[in-house]
Amino acid sequence: MRPDRIPLATHSDQAPIDTDRIERAVTEILLAIGEDPTREGLQETPRRIAQAYAYLFSGLSRDPAGAIDASFHEEYEGMVVLKDIQFFSMCEHHLLPFWGMAHVGYLPSGEIVGASKLARVIDNLAKRPQLQERLTDDAAATIAKVIKPQGVAVVVEAEHMCIAMRGIQKPGSRMITSAMRGSFLSDPRTRNEFMAIATGQR
Ligand code: ZN
Repeated sequence: MRPDRIPLATHSDQAPIDTDRIERAVTEILLAIGEDPTREGLQETPRRIAQAYAYLFSGLSRDPAGAIDASFHEEYEGMVVLKDIQFFSMCEHHLLPFWGMAHVGYLPSGEIVGASKLARVIDNLAKRPQLQERLTDDAAATIAKVIKPQGVAVVVEAEHMCIAMRGIQKPGSRMITSAMRGSFLSDPRTRNEFMAIATGQR
């Protein structure tokens, strides 16, 4: 098993998102494509995009591990699975959306966490320029680091606008990524049980 990668550092020690700078940049893009940024329909576009980006990239200033701010001691030994966690993210190669469902499972070793905390880990990681592979791996690493379970598994299914709208133009195709740690890696029964729950009929 390879060592846990430490999730991306947060940018909390840097300046907050500079919306004025985004506005100026979007105006430049509009000019570069030959548009008139002063025409009525576009006048407010740079401001709207700046506000949207401030929200879509707000995860940069949040530590994903900080989403799990409480855990409970509990002698539950079964698998815990939270499936169908909907998320929206932006691919860092094209700054186009990708979105879909994340399924998270872990096998506790004495500590359990609220379901909303698991969903918040996904949300914090999704709200930054991202890759689906890294989102998946960092979610598993974050959960493993904070609650130290016997094992953790994350499966992400997503549709990418950069594949649907441009390039090979294959709308509807979904990419599936998975990250396994601990017992999910070492025990095929654990892994199979999780995959059956996570990807089974809903
Ligand atoms: Zn892309």
